[in-house]
Amino acid sequence: MEPAGALPRSSSPSPEAAEPPGSPAVPAEEPPPAAAAAAQEARRRGPDRQGPAGRGARGGGRRAPGRRGGEPGGRAARRPRVTVDSSKAKTSLEALKISLRQLRWKEFPFGRRLPCDIYWHGVSFHDNDIFSGQVNKFPGMTEMVRKITLSRAVRTMQYLFPLEYNFYPRSWILPDESSFFEKEIRMMKDRDPSWKPTFIVKPDGGCQGDGIYLIKDPSDIRLTGGLQSRPAVVQEYICKPLLVDKLKFDIRLYVLLKSLDPLEIYIAKDGLSRFCTEPYQEPTLKNLHQVFMHLTNYSLNIHSGNFIHSDNVNTGSKRTFSSILCRLSSRGVDVKKVWSDIISLVIKTIIALTPELKVYYQSDIPAGKPGPTCFQILGFDILLMKNLKPMLLEVNANPSMRIEHEQELSPGVFENVPSPVDEEVKVAVIRDTLRLVDPQKKKQKDIQSQTLEHVSDTKEELLDAGPADRLEHDTNKNTEAGLPSLCLKQVFPKYAKQFNYLRLVDRVAALFIRFLGVKGTTKLGPTGFRTFIRNCKLSNSNFSMASVDILYIDITRRWNSMGIDHKESGMCWQAFVEAFFCLAQKKYKSLPLREQVASLIDFCEYHLAVLDEKRLVCGRGIAERRNALVTCQTDGLPLTPAAHTSLLNRVATASKLADYRNHQY
Ligand code: ADP
Repeated sequence: MEPAGALPRSSSPSPEAAEPPGSPAVPAEEPPPAAAAAAQEARRRGPDRQGPAGRGARGGGRRAPGRRGGEPGGRAARRPRVTVDSSKAKTSLEALKISLRQLRWKEFPFGRRLPCDIYWHGVSFHDNDIFSGQVNKFPGMTEMVRKITLSRAVRTMQYLFPLEYNFYPRSWILPDESSFFEKEIRMMKDRDPSWKPTFIVKPDGGCQGDGIYLIKDPSDIRLTGGLQSRPAVVQEYICKPLLVDKLKFDIRLYVLLKSLDPLEIYIAKDGLSRFCTEPYQEPTLKNLHQVFMHLTNYSLNIHSGNFIHSDNVNTGSKRTFSSILCRLSSRGVDVKKVWSDIISLVIKTIIALTPELKVYYQSDIPAGKPGPTCFQILGFDILLMKNLKPMLLEVNANPSMRIEHEQELSPGVFENVPSPVDEEVKVAVIRDTLRLVDPQKKKQKDIQSQTLEHVSDTKEELLDAGPADRLEHDTNKNTEAGLPSLCLKQVFPKYAKQFNYLRLVDRVAALFIRFLGVKGTTKLGPTGFRTFIRNCKLSNSNFSMASVDILYIDITRRWNSMGIDHKESGMCWQAFVEAFFCLAQKKYKSLPLREQVASLIDFCEYHLAVLDEKRLVCGRGIAERRNALVTCQTDGLPLTPAAHTSLLNRVATASKLADYRNHQY
């Protein structure tokens, strides 16, 4: 075992990480978090260990180094302070308070009559009614990452990109797919009698290991009963996890979704590793029920007699992820490769979530209406397999931001005591999230970009030299003197080039949203579906409008019978995806599914672009002959903002048309 806090071996001369086939590679140029851990550890151990990132800042009265008697940076002191409503922060309150003190922002713990810059919610977007500023939750995220919805979203991507999305265990949705699950497993066992799988059953919407159990055979599900009342996901159990100290552990990584459109993703350089408390053995009928061996949930293992509260980041039942990477690095593991695989997994998962999230978003914050902007910290639970491949277990919309734990002082007497590991990781994540969404920095950036635009008019080549970067750097220096460097690292759009080809379903979502019609809805009515078919020219002699109606009714009825959401009638997003795939298969029979779908998207976008062009001509005609009676033959849809954008962006439309023509055969 390595001494605590030992520096990691400098990473091996980084051979370009060999990615699994079909998986877009993230360059291995990143400093692995192990290095960050070492630096952090050095800071903790050094004389300056009470710096702003450390626990010493907790009291709030202490000054961060470099800030003598006032705000960091002379001019920054005169700026109005950023205001944060923390009245709904719930269990993240303590970590938020520390972060705000470090940033010297103004907290409103009981809310405020005037609008705040930022609203920090503990549970969901809807905790408050908000019409401006920023909220730390996206509408629909909680629904989106429920076990069933996440499995469906990833499965859609697995249909299109099976190799890229092989980081999620094979899953079935119960009770809808019970018989399919049984049949599929029987077939696989018949094919390979030596295959002895284990499955894990997880109730939908459950958390903290609640109601989870392992089974060896699909028929065991029936014995437990109650499935109809509680839908669940059943998953292939990963039997060979990587062990440290003979124990199974998982990784909780914090990911900031800073913006949905354009997509911006940041990953925290460090996370937490949560350990089981019984030595791991591969599942057998005898040990299947031993939760302390198979489930890594903190909330379960804390009840084990073997649980060790960590008093530093390298030991105990909850450690920093960077300390694990240090250990692995000392065993000769290529931790850069592990880290780059994790980044890929995170980006791909978010790409799977964004289409449906956009459907929720437009329904809560319709385009053109006043509303807040959103950002959100997500908790990714990842398991490393023995072969070091990361596997996604789940995504949490409300990862615990508690920085203390309960300790039993004497029988029955509990006290909350600080947890240094949690504090180290979580305060940095919250503080740096706030720094990234800082509204004043955004204002400054806007002013700078205006200035730059002006400069660029006269001297374009300056932009290439990167004055924008320099200006940003200078501003950061002014306003953030004394704060540690950001623990959140941008991965998207930084790696957009490698991953953009996966964003096919996003384009399907844009079509769905365009035809939703009534703002505030998430379901497509029969008229909207017909309009979609007509505008995209998908109906012909082989596919009549009567067949379109049958397709709509069939698919909508089936999805609505699954009990997803009965509040609204109409075709839900997943039903539309199924209908779209169905249409793609019909139209482009000979191609593989991914190409079928891509071709149909191109086809639809082309026809909509043509339509928008027509509207442009009509619209211009109307404007030019304002008082004349002009009849414009459109499809009955109003001139939507989407159409409008297209009108303004004629170059983009023209190139889309040209693209399509070039790809036609
Ligand atoms: P919960 O939301 O209840 O925590 P999870 O999906 O995170 O549900 O599962 C709980 C724990 O079960 C995980 O932390 C992990 O230790 C274990 N687990 C979950 N899925 C798998 C799997 N497919 N293979 C192996 N272990 C798993």
